[in-house]
Amino acid sequence: MAPTHVLRCCQRGLAWIPVVFIALVVCWSYYAYVVELCIITIINTGEKIVYLVFFHLSFIMFVWSYWKTIFTRPANPSKEFSLPKAEKEQYEKEERPEAQQEILRRVASGLPLYTRTGAGAIRYCDRCQVIKPDRCHHCSACDMCVLKMDHHCPWVNNCVGFSNYKYFILFLAYSLVYCLFIAATVLQYFIRFWTLCRRKSAENCPQNDLPDTHAKFHILFLFFVAAMFCISILSLFSYHLWLVGKNRSTIEAFRAPVFRNGPDKNGFSLGFSKNIAQVFGDQKKYWLLPVCTSQGDGLTFPTRLVNVDPEQPTVILQTDCSSKSVEDGSIPQSPLSDSQNRLLANDHHSSDDHLGIDALKSDGSDGITILMESDS
Ligand SMILES: [Zn+2]
Ligand SMILES: [Zn+2]
Repeated sequence: MAPTHVLRCCQRGLAWIPVVFIALVVCWSYYAYVVELCIITIINTGEKIVYLVFFHLSFIMFVWSYWKTIFTRPANPSKEFSLPKAEKEQYEKEERPEAQQEILRRVASGLPLYTRTGAGAIRYCDRCQVIKPDRCHHCSACDMCVLKMDHHCPWVNNCVGFSNYKYFILFLAYSLVYCLFIAATVLQYFIRFWTLCRRKSAENCPQNDLPDTHAKFHILFLFFVAAMFCISILSLFSYHLWLVGKNRSTIEAFRAPVFRNGPDKNGFSLGFSKNIAQVFGDQKKYWLLPVCTSQGDGLTFPTRLVNVDPEQPTVILQTDCSSKSVEDGSIPQSPLSDSQNRLLANDHHSSDDHLGIDALKSDGSDGITILMESDS
């Protein structure tokens, strides 16, 4: 076995450590809550049952969404975004960046692309040898190009992108619910155990209905851990809800996507409710379930410029976020579907649109300078 291969295997193994850590904490929290709190500590049967039912509901939703975030494979660009054999050979032989860009522009002219590098060049991944679809970025940890890449998350050992962004948001939501529920229900027992401790040390312990057992340590620790996770998850969850409302990925929040007419941080924003629908789907009954309801194919996204760029083919928006559909690789070329028409309808009423259309009108040149984007 080659040393680099062994190193790669070690890296892959080590990358699971944060996931194993979270899994162990979750298993312990389950034991501490169900056994030490509900079975050993709580005496009232009604309270026991109510706590156990709600705890298991939040536990199941949390584990389900976490599982889906971890094990949903990131979606990659389809075959159409790879260079055809002849162009690829030509590209590899060519040393002048200008000529290479010319080849890329020729191939890209048949693809639904709206974004460019900061210098206006076609976005190409040398590592994957593929023209990057809009919102796609190369992840160095996964060593692949990921559609609508948001970020690489070590806590799920996976890339968060088009295929699992909804699951990731739900994972944050349900972990917050799980921690809040634990903290809220454990609080009164936490206070009673805490008081018990202090009184015992003062050798003035009155009658107390809680036995001084090892359950005390589990419950004290359970409250601290739940409260700590609540605080850290809340900030991340709020940030991602804001991103969904704006239709931006984390990468785009830091670096605005560059369209033919320049950078536009709101380039993919279709208005609040349509932005939400793009991630969670049209049907509200599925919003809270970690099942695939995100709109689109991950390769093309409606932009505010989609109707006014005559050089680009029209795109269809279909409801399918499974990586299989992306890999089997058909680029939609048919006219706008009903769902996309609905997405784009009334666009011109939003203030964001004026920015985009003004930018388009003011653009006089189509000059593209040569500089490869350095994605990491
Ligand atoms: Zn790549
Ligand atoms: Zn990744």
